[in-house]
Amino acid sequence: MTTPQAPSSDELTDLRQRYRLERERRVRPDGALQYRATEAEFGYYAADPYAGEPTERVPLHDTVDVAVVGGGFGGILAGARMRQQGVRRVRIVEKGGDFGGTWYWNRYPGIHCDIESHVYLPLLDETGYVPEWKYAPGEEIRRHAVRIAEKFDLYPDALFSTGVTSLTWEETSETWMVTTDRGDAFRATYVVTATGTLSEPKLPGIPGIEDFTGHTFHTSRWDYAYTGGTPDGGMTGLAQKRVGIVGTGATGIQVIPMLAEDAGHVLVFQRTPSTVDVRANRRTTARDVGADQDGWARERRENYLRIVSGESTEQDLVADRWTMSAGLLEKLLPSFRRQGDRADFEAAYEAADAAKMNELRTRVERTVTDQDTAEKLKPWYRYACKRPTFSDKYYPAFNRDNVTLVDTADTHGIERVTEHGVVVGDTAYELDCLIFATGFSVGTSGIHSGKLPVHGRSGTQLLHAWARQGPRTLHGFTSNGFPNLVQMGSLQNASSVNFTHVLDEQAVHAAALVAAAEAKGALFEPTREAEDAWIAALAEDSPDHEWFHAECTPGYYNREGRGRPNGPIAYPHGASAFHELLKQWREESMGGILQARSTTPPAWRPTSVAPNG
Ligand code: NDP
Repeated sequence: MTTPQAPSSDELTDLRQRYRLERERRVRPDGALQYRATEAEFGYYAADPYAGEPTERVPLHDTVDVAVVGGGFGGILAGARMRQQGVRRVRIVEKGGDFGGTWYWNRYPGIHCDIESHVYLPLLDETGYVPEWKYAPGEEIRRHAVRIAEKFDLYPDALFSTGVTSLTWEETSETWMVTTDRGDAFRATYVVTATGTLSEPKLPGIPGIEDFTGHTFHTSRWDYAYTGGTPDGGMTGLAQKRVGIVGTGATGIQVIPMLAEDAGHVLVFQRTPSTVDVRANRRTTARDVGADQDGWARERRENYLRIVSGESTEQDLVADRWTMSAGLLEKLLPSFRRQGDRADFEAAYEAADAAKMNELRTRVERTVTDQDTAEKLKPWYRYACKRPTFSDKYYPAFNRDNVTLVDTADTHGIERVTEHGVVVGDTAYELDCLIFATGFSVGTSGIHSGKLPVHGRSGTQLLHAWARQGPRTLHGFTSNGFPNLVQMGSLQNASSVNFTHVLDEQAVHAAALVAAAEAKGALFEPTREAEDAWIAALAEDSPDHEWFHAECTPGYYNREGRGRPNGPIAYPHGASAFHELLKQWREESMGGILQARSTTPPAWRPTSVAPNG
């Protein structure tokens, strides 16, 4: 790779102006309200196409040790780490028909993870599995989720095609009552919520969307019964069809080249182009990744986490476009480790950003032969404004005769859906099929939206308890008034682009809390003082990225152009440092979180210690 040229100061001034204009073209007054949830009349878009009719079963009224809400990687890892601590009855409750979470739902053609598989797939050391590709296809990832669940014996107690409807702390038994939409009402000594951040597909609120009489679905519920084929292609059902696809984010750029190969004609309705960097996927051997060494996967993912969290390391084991561009991701990170003069840093950062974005725009020009199409595909914003994407097949797809790019930036997206297609500007496009690659309600868990009510001590609802001062937690996981409850996710902790790594550290932590409570016959519940101290620690060093996001093109990173980074305040020193802090806290007798029980503790005792604990 040639090093991108540093831009001159005149060039930087022009770029700033161009970025501002492009942002103004896209900001909508309705912000996040432009979207529609896939429920009620649009519930069809979120139905499970893989599970078939749910089989009848008798509702459960028993007692388990740990109930886990959600069977994606978060829930599976919680289950696995609980098992390593000797917990016997772990019941994972999952809406889908099997384990896998995002990898259960998303099976669209071309699906791959764009984080290296050797750091993304969790528990590789423990399962002995070595991925075969640098970037694994979705089905391999889904099968790995199943592999972990089988290895840690999580199937016997699991409930699939079942949604948890409430969690209620019962003072007399000091257990949680868990109810579900299948009539279950069972007790659990501990509850872990792992409901995911990309679990609720969303639709654009385009007028007339309900009038379309052709076929339509969301990418996270791909309808192979209609298209034919598999995630590897072969969609013979589309051979004579005019297919419209809305959305060119990380999903769209994987799907579009596959549609281009199989469909009669593909119309790509783009609002904001993504940055599309080099993918370079390839087969890998165990030797390439040092998989003959004990602990190889743990070492590799630690190395990756440090680099993408802005830390310097002696070597870059993964060496891909995420790690090479890690310095430009600073505005996405809670980490704020830069030393020295801030103004100097910002100037150097902007120049490096401009050089990278020039390189990416040149990539479009060099690949797409029609220069009018190439111009429309160029991204005009700073690198960290939108989630970076990676593909070597996306741009070449636009050189095919059966692919048309329709830019909708001037009309803030598709204006109208009609019975027969869509309207943009003065043009109506007739379609047989309209596919929405329009993403998810990011970060909205049922607990925080109120769909899943959580009642703690004295019947207090979690959302009511947080209504006045906002979320209150210790480390993002536990809250006063809600004993023996661990919330996994991205609240008041530290996240990373390699989210499965973050989830695994959270699972280790949850299992350690349960084991410690069991060993002492205690409950875990932080004091209000511990919550205050944690929130103050987050606020104290929190970096100010607001101005950066205020100048970005709209998207879910900046609340559709509102400026404030999406998501709650996070630990400012990065994910690696956060994991170290948790480990120390666990080793130093858990900061007084254990409280005496007034009832008899359950019968089991931990039998082993988690290797990472
Ligand atoms: P995104 O939210 O990233 O993208 C949605 C797309 O829909 C955007 O291009 C958006 O345009 C477009 N859109 C929305 N409304 C309209 C409209 N009215 N008219 C035209 N276009 C519209 O969703 P994705 O599913 O692509 O990705 C979501 C997340 O999932 C990613 O950010 C990533 O975290 C994860 N993911 C990860 C993958 C991986 O390999 N690890 C692969 C796929 C997804 P605009 O930008 O203008 O809003």
